[in-house]
Amino acid sequence: MRRIQVENRNLNVCYLATYKSFQQYRNIDTFRLEVLCKNPHLKLIFENSVPAFEHPLTISQVSFSNKSTVEDHMLMCGDAAGMIHPMCGNGMAMAIHSAKIASELIIDHFNKKIRSRQELEAAYSQAWNATFKTRITTGRILQPFFGKDGLTRAIMYGVTHIPAVLPVIIRHTHGKPLKLTTV
Ligand SMILES: Cc1cc2nc3c(=O)[nH]c(=O)nc-3n(C[C@H](O)[C@H](O)[C@H](O)COP(=O)(O)OP(=O)(O)OC[C@H]3O[C@@H](n4cnc5c(N)ncnc54)[C@H](O)[C@@H]3O)c2cc1C
Repeated sequence: MRRIQVENRNLNVCYLATYKSFQQYRNIDTFRLEVLCKNPHLKLIFENSVPAFEHPLTISQVSFSNKSTVEDHMLMCGDAAGMIHPMCGNGMAMAIHSAKIASELIIDHFNKKIRSRQELEAAYSQAWNATFKTRITTGRILQPFFGKDGLTRAIMYGVTHIPAVLPVIIRHTHGKPLKLTTV
């Protein structure tokens, strides 16, 4: 569960639910009342705020499984190449970063520094793996900890009581700042 203040001082409340846990409540309103409002902090927010949208925005069938960096000779960027669990990674930055890697290699291909399409695809896969593989793998290892009550508590206890843990997790799930070059 994340609560982030966005533009106009609005509060963005975002959560992930498994199909299994959601199934028994059937709709978002009941799920919010029966599950989310068990948390007194969230209850306070839900009871004292006015929704900015008429309906909540939802997506379903999110897949964190392995994907290919190249499909049918197309270079895959962002979530299409691999999605990191939202609780541990910054997927938007990864999408922008992978597009930057692809763009720079395509320019190299047009400038004949990379001679063939095959070489371009191999270079992209190599660069993508070097940049994101560890982050995706760490995310995949951490993923089961989120959503399971006991495990989530254990990890929250760890990060609050052993301050050295959180920077290690962040180092392994978040990249370094992007260096921008002008073309
Ligand atoms: C619940 C949740 C919370 C998240 N929270 C954060 C966060 O706080 N911070 C963060 O950095 N990341 C977060 N992420 C991850 C982040 O949203 C994604 O990693 C990022 O948006 C990926 O960008 P993308 O361009 O690859 O894909 P998307 O943003 O999904 O863009 C793909 C676009 O393609 C369109 N599309 C799909 N199929 C077609 C088609 N056939 N023809 C034309 N258009 C099509 C879609 O409608 C969509 O607009 C979160 C993800 C989830 C699920």
